[in-house]
Amino acid sequence: MLTLTFLGVGSAFAKRNYHSNLLIEAWHKGPDHQDRPDDTLLVDFGSTGPLAMHQLIGQPGFAYLNSQGRINYPAIHRVFVTHQHADHIGGLEEMALMNAYFFRDTVKDRPFKPQIISSLSILLNLWDQSLKGGLSAMAGRYALLQDYFYILALNPKEPGKDGFTMLKRYRFALFPTDHIQIERKYDWPSHGLFIEDTQTGRCVFFSGDTRFDYAAYARMMERADVCFHEVQLFDEPTPVHSLVGEMRTLPEPIRRKTWLYHFGDDWDTGPFDFVPDEFAGFATPQQRYRVLD
Ligand SMILES: [Zn+2]
Ligand SMILES: [Zn+2]
Repeated sequence: MLTLTFLGVGSAFAKRNYHSNLLIEAWHKGPDHQDRPDDTLLVDFGSTGPLAMHQLIGQPGFAYLNSQGRINYPAIHRVFVTHQHADHIGGLEEMALMNAYFFRDTVKDRPFKPQIISSLSILLNLWDQSLKGGLSAMAGRYALLQDYFYILALNPKEPGKDGFTMLKRYRFALFPTDHIQIERKYDWPSHGLFIEDTQTGRCVFFSGDTRFDYAAYARMMERADVCFHEVQLFDEPTPVHSLVGEMRTLPEPIRRKTWLYHFGDDWDTGPFDFVPDEFAGFATPQQRYRVLD
């Protein structure tokens, strides 16, 4: 079974929800029969991620993430990074430092290292432009990304290197998203995920941050049993997100199976009450979705 729990469902600037980061848990039997999953993957960990995770560890069913009131970071085996905005990576410094020092493996005298997964270009930029400032200083020497993480670099253009699996059963393929164009489409790297249960053929679509681009995602969204798509509730002339008005133009069968996430703080103020009627709904934070049996 694969379960999916949003730490938060908010936009980069949301204050009533945490950032749209996702905990994916893979289970041989499922949460009714196990007190911890067999593999765990965070999809992004933004600047509110640690606070959101700290809230999650107090929820029923997530005790394995709780280490005497602190986040049990070694329970997070892997992290996938969709792109470099702070609402998606701002919590990684804390995770790396806590794993390196607080949860240090004292027997082997080395830091606990989770796996970090993304495209090669994002991983290079993530270190050089973002994480290096806080993580390169180590007593006695300069550190590198591989001092904190095992690195899995993917290439979305190369079949066989465009994904990874959990429990050898759930295949995750990354695809490029049209989030921000410096000069042309896809020139600033950002990614979404298409997840397939190789035993049953059932699939999940996760958009990542993207402008509305149904032409690019239609085949995946048609095939998926459930979709999670980002949304922006206010209009903008040159958006970098998917406007809710654009999302309403999706074919009805697609809308019905699509949960919206990455929204601002006004989702429940009235104008967007149509969302649960026209879509699967606004995604709920800190709730385990059982997406693949
Ligand atoms: Zn974002
Ligand atoms: Zn973004």
